[in-house]
Amino acid sequence: MATKRELEGQLAVVVGFEDPQAALEQYPTPPALAAHVIHLADLHDDIEGRTVLDLGAGTGMLTLGAALRGPARVIAVELDGGPLATAVENRRRVGTRTPIHWLQADATQLPLSIPEPVTVVMNPPFGAQDGQAGADRGFLSTVASVASVSYSVHNAGSKEFIEAFAADNGGEVTHAFSAAFAVDNQFEHHDEERREIDTEVYRIEWDN
Ligand code: SAH
Repeated sequence: MATKRELEGQLAVVVGFEDPQAALEQYPTPPALAAHVIHLADLHDDIEGRTVLDLGAGTGMLTLGAALRGPARVIAVELDGGPLATAVENRRRVGTRTPIHWLQADATQLPLSIPEPVTVVMNPPFGAQDGQAGADRGFLSTVASVASVSYSVHNAGSKEFIEAFAADNGGEVTHAFSAAFAVDNQFEHHDEERREIDTEVYRIEWDN
């Protein structure tokens, strides 16, 4: 297995959002965090030979990270066509032969059924924008219906919500860690040029 650092290097070429939409919470996952999540998933045998589903795939950071670790296929679901077009270009930059299905769709209303249990990786909208609190709940409902295991990034302070949601929907949190990452000042309502977002990553096993 390649190292986490090697994966981070391979993901350094992935381009982020050209015209980020605040309402969709388009924050790219930095390569270091993406590599951390995917490497951890690989160590748990959750990537190789599996179907991996990336919900809210953006410009493909987690999709491509997973694709580099030998899954059977990756299905990337993203609502916004612009980032998906960038993701297809990113695939060329990264250079992987893994089959990737790019799907422009609402991740909370998944328009496909997947016969085999899947590994979900996702950095969904957190609901940090006004009036969108709990936006990750809809994504987690999809996860609960299709995943045997999931890795998801949430905002800091999500532990109680995640554990309760998992318990109510046939899931169990097996691992958790916190990670801070910097995002550029891409939306007008941010005052500083760069700011840190405190996040938490959860591995959850599901009854599917
Ligand atoms: N996973 C990417 C992007 C994270 S930002 C990365 O790790 O870099 C969250 C992404 O979710 C954005 O690309 C946004 O457009 C997408 N999104 C928001 N609501 C969505 C929905 N209902 N269905 C699918 N994608 C959605």
